[in-house]
Amino acid sequence: MTPRELRDRIRSRKALKPKDRGKLEKVLWAEQPAAERVLNTNEVPLAYEPAEARAEAVRCLDCKSAPCQSDCPVGIDVAGFLRLVADGDFRGAIRKIKHDNLLPGITGRVCPQETQCQSRCTIAKLHKDLGFAVSVGKIEAFLADWERENGVELPAVAAPTGFAVAIVGSGPSGLACAADLRRLGHDVTILEAFHKAGGVLVYGIPEFRLPKDIVQAEVDNLVKMGVEFEFDTVVGQTLTVDDLFEEGYDAVYVATGAGLPYFLEVPGEDLNGVYSANEYLTRANLMGAYRFPKEDTPVLRRDRAVVLGGGNVAMDSARTARRLGTKEVTLVYRRSRAEMPARIEEIHHAEEEGVVMRLLSAPVEILGTPDGWVRGIKVQQCVLGEPDAKGRRRPVPIEGAYEEIPCELVVEAIGNGPNPLIQKTTPGLSTSRHGTLIVDEATMMTTKKGVFAGGDIVAGASTVILAMGHGRKAAASIDRYLNALDDESLPAEAAAAAPS
Ligand code: FAD
Repeated sequence: MTPRELRDRIRSRKALKPKDRGKLEKVLWAEQPAAERVLNTNEVPLAYEPAEARAEAVRCLDCKSAPCQSDCPVGIDVAGFLRLVADGDFRGAIRKIKHDNLLPGITGRVCPQETQCQSRCTIAKLHKDLGFAVSVGKIEAFLADWERENGVELPAVAAPTGFAVAIVGSGPSGLACAADLRRLGHDVTILEAFHKAGGVLVYGIPEFRLPKDIVQAEVDNLVKMGVEFEFDTVVGQTLTVDDLFEEGYDAVYVATGAGLPYFLEVPGEDLNGVYSANEYLTRANLMGAYRFPKEDTPVLRRDRAVVLGGGNVAMDSARTARRLGTKEVTLVYRRSRAEMPARIEEIHHAEEEGVVMRLLSAPVEILGTPDGWVRGIKVQQCVLGEPDAKGRRRPVPIEGAYEEIPCELVVEAIGNGPNPLIQKTTPGLSTSRHGTLIVDEATMMTTKKGVFAGGDIVAGASTVILAMGHGRKAAASIDRYLNALDDESLPAEAAAAAPS
């Protein structure tokens, strides 16, 4: 839209009836062209300009029932902040978001809005097309960037309570829990195995989707609020959860994620040139392999790569491979496009960047050269069968329908599970058959008194916003638990959750 059109829309806002606002054209954002962006690691979508953000927010119908915020895991007042943006009150809008979410620069960029707030947008329903929904995520990211440029307001921290909480893991769940506990005046220390805070936000999600300086800026805000970090500390190895209580912590929140990669268990997985997505992305992102040899950590660069999987992790790996100079990247997925769990935007971006999708193809063997390097992958064609327990149609292999895809690099992105270290070294913690920690869903307390848990370690590989939602819920519950300790009596709910 031209600057004049944007201005006219903003001016006419108050005169527009909701039904007319619903017909307004969506304000699209610019993006780096695909041919250019595969040569750099810069962010792909370019941020809204202030007038664009306002004009897009004008489209919100301000529905009384606000379906967009009905089940946001962290409870953001979506319609409320959009109203303020439309009025041009960016400070008020970011304040409103930060009431519930101190990581807006992150969630604005990586939340799957198309299956959450935006999927419930009335305009999308009226047009029967999700593409018409108000761009909540892009406006949220704009506001976070606007605040970084115009002065960040830190939330007030209550007077010290004298309680200390240890949080294990600095991913979005640990960060969200830390923010709320600190606001309430508790001492908070985050113990992190890596040398940097952010969890998957820094070691998994690539720079071109979530710039690391944005994660660092949001972590720095927590440091300014008084949250302490201890890096290179592996709980369960450097010290145990029980040691933390002995050191004087009153409660522990375990937010160690699901960083243990699953493997296919097909012949050839031990060949040189096979990576788990976890290792591939950690080398590229956290360890800076893009800049090797300026950085110490290398990552294998080859002309042809095959990435296995259909989720965000697979898209990130494929797009990272393109940026690391891989000429041909093929993504092999057992089901069809409709069942792909990746965000629609990521699939679209991957294809624009030249990633070829080989759908309905199940990997059966990784093929090697006599000296032990990958030379290709054998896949079996599939058709879709009946839905599985999650409602996704199962891939059914077609007998005898095999094909070989030549490649020198294979990245497996078929899922992650929880690392069992904490569970193994903490007596009293119960786990599910998937290895996730069992918690009381109302309190997020585990089966061990004073130990709470949330994020992927409880839900299995999930989403940033769900992990943050758990962190917030746990923080409120930990606060109640600590206050009850003060009264020298446990709340009934915590007592019920504690082992007998
Ligand atoms: P994590 O982010 O995994 O953080 C756990 C932290 O705990 C890590 O820093 C880890 O080092 C630390 N830790 C583990 N064990 C220990 C220990 N014993 N002692 C000390 N520290 C420990 N979700 C989305 O919503 N949108 C996306 O676009 C998206 N893309 C993704 C892309 C990739 C490549 C991956 C892997 C995941 C993606 N996800 C996405 C999922 C999302 O990132 C996770 O659901 C979320 O990060 C989980 O948060 P968490 O805090 O539970 O765990």
